[in-house]
Amino acid sequence: MNSFRIGQLDVFRIEEKVHHFDADEFFPEIQRDVIQRNASWLAPFFDIAGHRMPCVFQAFVIRYGRLNILIDTCFGNDKERPDFLIAHRLQTPFMDRFHAAGFDVADINLVLCTHMHVDHVGWNTRLENGRWVPTFPNARYVFSQEEYARYAPENVRPENPPPFFDIYQDSVLPVIASGQALMVSGEHQVNEVLTVVPTPGHTPGHISVRAKEGSEAGLFLGDVIHSPVQMADPDLNSAYCEIPAVARQSRRAMLEYAAETDALLVPGHFLAPHIGRVRREASHYQFVPGVEVVGT
Ligand SMILES: [Zn+2]
Repeated sequence: MNSFRIGQLDVFRIEEKVHHFDADEFFPEIQRDVIQRNASWLAPFFDIAGHRMPCVFQAFVIRYGRLNILIDTCFGNDKERPDFLIAHRLQTPFMDRFHAAGFDVADINLVLCTHMHVDHVGWNTRLENGRWVPTFPNARYVFSQEEYARYAPENVRPENPPPFFDIYQDSVLPVIASGQALMVSGEHQVNEVLTVVPTPGHTPGHISVRAKEGSEAGLFLGDVIHSPVQMADPDLNSAYCEIPAVARQSRRAMLEYAAETDALLVPGHFLAPHIGRVRREASHYQFVPGVEVVGT
């Protein structure tokens, strides 16, 4: 599904690419018996026979009145990522798809990055005459202050650079240099319908976005959860979760909130239909894909 609604909010999904990871590499603590027990509902989202984890890389644009808000910006084109080849020197039609959804780069008022990993900040910038410049000229870019802290000049030692410093330099720093960045801390009300919620653990300052319009709510979760497999086992972290114990706490808190309030779950990387609800089971959760309301 490439568009859906949360109350009066229209949400458009812009896909960049899909990659199938080796499940044991992506989830080092994955248990095959958990997958088997939950195979009936996990099968559309996990390659059980091949033991591979399909992962969609995608962005979401929320249209709210005259405001267009972009959440996460995928890998981007032309980025030098020799250590992560699925992101290296990409030439994807992401921007064609963005335009086909009815948007121009000048239309985006706000960009929200859940965290500063390679697949969430890429299209923040584009290559112009050999320089990285902000892709969205009229947008404020919202980042987490806690996420930014490890890259703040006073905290960077050139002889021992922080993790992913190259990504920060080509995809975040140009936005700061242009004066378009806004660092937020703690729970932060963006406007009357959107709230930034701290969900640390995958990265130190990971944030999620709660959308609330009328009686409907949605949770844009970035990498709090990568796959419905983590509903079958909510403690299962990816190899890329930087603070494992905290990542588990944030995941459980968000799943519990979604199950309790029937909020629509909009994670960063789920296969089609990409979104859904959360149903609480005795010791875990179950994914109810699509926009149907649980229990009706
Ligand atoms: Zn991600």
